[in-house]
Amino acid sequence: VPAVQIRNLSKWYGSFQALTDVDLTISRGEKLVICGPSGSGKSTLIRTINALENFQKGQIIVDGIELTRKPDAVEAVRKRVGMVFQQFNLFPHLTVLENCTLALRLVRGIPHKEAEERALHYLGKVRIPDQAHKYASQLSGGQQQRVAIARALSMQPDIMLFDEPTSALDPEMVKEVLDTMTQLAGEGMTMAVVTHEMGFARQVADRVVFMDRGEIVEHGPPSEFFSNP
Ligand code: ADP
Ligand code: ADP
Repeated sequence: VPAVQIRNLSKWYGSFQALTDVDLTISRGEKLVICGPSGSGKSTLIRTINALENFQKGQIIVDGIELTRKPDAVEAVRKRVGMVFQQFNLFPHLTVLENCTLALRLVRGIPHKEAEERALHYLGKVRIPDQAHKYASQLSGGQQQRVAIARALSMQPDIMLFDEPTSALDPEMVKEVLDTMTQLAGEGMTMAVVTHEMGFARQVADRVVFMDRGEIVEHGPPSEFFSNP
């Protein structure tokens, strides 16, 4: 079973069609980069996979589970999908550790101590071992985004979706986040990444999808997109 199967997906915001007949399969372990101009539907596409946006036509199947409007299906899909946003969406008045354990405890019902152990494991992976008891607001943007990645990983998803994860960062912090994502890719995580970082796409992507006006207009290995003269 592929990680994600999208068939004939169309989505409208009111009368505006944001996605038109999108077909996309993401294999297990695949690293997909989604690029294209601003407003082409990249963010809409990955938000739809995680049921953060609804859709009117077509089919999304995650790990063999069809995403319907039923709460059970939405929950089952979200359980498998981790999401990292441009804005890190951490709670600034909670500590790093509290940010990472909140959903584990409240959504998954995992006991406090076990949730903390798990979160600390993933904070170690993103190399934020010493900052667990700081408030999120005390960290740099790059550190906050790595905490957001650890928070998503703590839920132990099968696939990670990234929506322009470095676009809100100061330039000097972009590398540390891309390095974390590259490390994750090396460990075999299935990833779909909306990004303008062509270096990352060239090094990490198995496949690049290019969107324009709500459609996938091209896809192929990064070597086809970025010729090295
Ligand atoms: P991208 O991520 O490629 O920049 P988006 O998926 O954010 O593109 O947006 C695709 C199109 O849908 C844009 O024209 C955008 O203005 C429109 N759009 C996005 N979100 C909404 C919304 N909540 N309501 C109406 N239109 C939206
Ligand atoms: P309608 O709202 O037009 O009566 P449905 O709610 O049954 O129709 O779904 C319309 C389409 O939206 C179907 O193809 C359905 O598979 C798809 N769909 C499935 N899951 C979702 C979801 N979480 N959000 C929005 N649309 C979805």
